[in-house]
This record gives sequence, structure tokens and C-alpha cells, in this order.
Amino acid sequence: MTVEEKLSGENSVLFDPWDKEHLWHPYTSTIDPLPTYKIVSAHDNRLRLADGRELIDGMSSWWCACHGYNHPVLNEAVVRQLHNMSHVMFGGITHQPAIELGKKLLAIAPPSMHNIFYADSGSVAVEVAMKMAVQAAISRSGSHRKTNFATIRSGYHGDTWNAMSVCDPVTGMHGAFGSALPVRYFVAQPRSRFDGEWDQNDITPLSQLLEDKSDEIAAVILEPIVQGAGGMWFYHPEYLRQARELCDRHGVYLIFDEIATGFWRTGRQFAWEHAGVEPDIMCVGKCLTGGYMTMAAVLTTKDVADTISRGEAGVMMHGPTFMANPLACAVACASVDLLNSQDMEATVKRLETDMKRLLAPAKELACVTDVRVLGSIGVVEVDKPVNVGVFQKECVRRGIWVRPFGRNVYIMPPYVTPREDLSTLCEEMVGILRDNEKCPVGLL
Ligand code: PMP
Repeated sequence: MTVEEKLSGENSVLFDPWDKEHLWHPYTSTIDPLPTYKIVSAHDNRLRLADGRELIDGMSSWWCACHGYNHPVLNEAVVRQLHNMSHVMFGGITHQPAIELGKKLLAIAPPSMHNIFYADSGSVAVEVAMKMAVQAAISRSGSHRKTNFATIRSGYHGDTWNAMSVCDPVTGMHGAFGSALPVRYFVAQPRSRFDGEWDQNDITPLSQLLEDKSDEIAAVILEPIVQGAGGMWFYHPEYLRQARELCDRHGVYLIFDEIATGFWRTGRQFAWEHAGVEPDIMCVGKCLTGGYMTMAAVLTTKDVADTISRGEAGVMMHGPTFMANPLACAVACASVDLLNSQDMEATVKRLETDMKRLLAPAKELACVTDVRVLGSIGVVEVDKPVNVGVFQKECVRRGIWVRPFGRNVYIMPPYVTPREDLSTLCEEMVGILRDNEKCPVGLL
């Protein structure tokens, strides 16, 4: 079978017909689903297709598999914990993996973080962070009016109800859910680039909003420095510094959603470090378990935690079944140790330098509107939304795995990606865009 035949969609080794008929994949139609390629195993930065071919992974499985796949140290941690206990409730019970992970997180988190709430996923962590802010704001102000949120346009914070409500109102899911979603305050996204000049006008919308509405707002929620799934935009650290000052001045909490940016993705352990200002509440997830299983954590200051505890409920009102799952905690401990044992700053710098060089040729293409790289995130922005199905078919034909969204063709490779693979990944990705310009195949 040729590669073209294998990719034809008729190939039931690669495309499972039962899956197509019955399984829902993310953001997918049941009437006209995008193809889903069957993967049978994965190791390092490679995904093995059911037909035996290997793909160079550019996605880290939606940014979580930072150490790559099938890592011996992480495997070991899961197996060791599995033989002990895979799960036990967290209500009235504690365990060593949760305690150890908490200590490790506080050692690398902003210094003012003091209390930790383990959540099941990134979206749930955002829900918990928002509930914390509301409970603390009501307790602190004594007013039930202070329960709304403010954020910037082009953000993404997850797919659950409240998380959706603070995603970008146009590119997010507000259109589909309409008035079912709580109405939040949105201000313009900062346009000052991470590596460019700071424009003081960028902060004016937030400054005005807080001036007018702070009696209604519990917290401002931001993805620090990198806005991910809302547009892959890197903005100036000064925005965070001034947002912090404004929140303090107006008695509004500041939440940093570091679910995508945490654990070295932007070149620092956490993105707040680029600005040097700390949040009141911080969410981490994705790479927390090295991409092994779903788990997130919400960290907060002693002041926020105690303010909640002094409030009407007297407790933090959340407690999921799988809270602090021991398997997840054990593998997260191993993942944090693995990161701490390496010179991650140098590793990510190398990826950044290489990606800057390798993606630069894309700037010459007429369809490309911007190329930006920060840490191990490389983005090529094009002038029209990409046809994901066609683009991915071309990626798989060329032996790489990249999943664009909207006008963003981007990569976030695992940190273990060898230099030759990074070259192939970037060259093929730019090659698809270049060939598309020369001979349109309907990619864009
Ligand atoms: N916040 C941010 C910044 C994210 O990037 C994501 C996931 N892409 C989430 C929250 C939601 O995380 P999860 O998919 O684990 O629910």
C-alpha cells in the first residue's frame, strides 16, 4: 500500500470505522467527523501509527507530554504507586504522594503561595480558582455583589461552564451557548508584543473597567504572557505588572492560569517569572503529571485561603471523587523531580533558538502574517483559517504530527525532541505552507 492509499480514509488499520461511528473526539461532528489516526504506541517524541510508521510529535499531546512518551522514570513511578494503592478518597484521608507533591509545588511556585487544592483537570482547576475568588471576595467585602470576573479578549481557560464564560467571546464557545453562559467583563487584549516596546495604552481598558466596576468584580483571570488556545499570542510582561497594581488598588483578586505556560514551556519554570509579579490564585495542570494522566492544582495565598475559611460557608466548597489521586500525584512528583534534575532553562533556550532559525523562512511566504517563538512554543500565523483535516493528512504523509487551529499553525514539541527531529518538524511544517502557496491544495 502506498502512503497515499494508506491515508485515503478507506484504510481500516489507520482509521477505525467503529470509532468513526461511535466515539466522540474533541470538537467533532458525528455527521462529518475529521479523520482520527490510530496510534498504537508512543516513545520519546514519537507516535507510532497503527500501520507501523512513526510521526515526530509537535504537539506534546496538547502541551502536556513535556518529557515525551513512555519515559522510564515516569513509568516506574506509576508502577510503584500502583502496587501500593491506585486511589483512595481525600476526604478525611491523606497520603504521602499528595504531601510530597504539595511540598515540591510550593518549592517552585511563587513564594506567596501557601495552600493547594488538587483538581481533576485544567478546566476544573479554573472552576475551583473562580469559586475560591468568589468565596474570598464575598468573605472579604461582606457583599454578594462582588462575584463577577474580568479578563482579556482572546483568552482560553477550558471547556466547563465558568471556564467557558471567560474564554474569548468570539473564538470561544459563547456563540454556541449564548445566554446560557454567565456574562463576564472582557477588555481588549494587550497588543504590545512580548519582545517589543510597551505601549501604555494597552492597560487603559482594564484600568477603566476596574475604576468603574470593581464593586462587582471578584477577580481578574489571565493566562500570563502566553495566550494559548485563544490565539497563541505572546504579550508584554508590563501588562501583568500593571494589572497586579490595579487589582491591589481596587480590591480585586488576580488569578494566573498557568495550565499551559507552567513547567518551563515559556522558558521559565512559570510564566509569572517573566514579570516578577505574583497572583493571588494560580492554576497548574497539563505538564504537572508529565502528561501521564489528568490532574491539576490550584495554589493560593494563606490570606485567600483563610479569608475563604472565615466566610459564610467556612470551608472551600469543592471536593471531587478523584481529588489528589495517588497515581497522578506519584507521577507528578517524578515529573517535577525530572525537570528539577535538568538544566531546563538551557534545554528550552536551545529549542527556542533552533525554532527561531527554523521557522524564520516562513516569514517569506505570502500567506504568513506573523512568526513568533517563545520558549518551546513556535507559531506561524497565516492569513486564513487552516483546513485541519487536509493539513493533518499532509503532516502524516510527511511523518510529523501538528494540529493547527484557526489561523495558527504551531508546535509545542516535547522537551526531549532531538535536534534533527526538530529540524524535520519545522521544515516539513513550513514546507506544507510553502507547497500550498506554489500549488494550492486547499490547505488554507
Ligand atoms: N487553561 C488553559 C490556559 C489551557 O490551555 C487549558 C487546556 N488547553 C485549560 C485551561 C483546560 O485544561 P483541560 O483541558 O485539562 O481541562
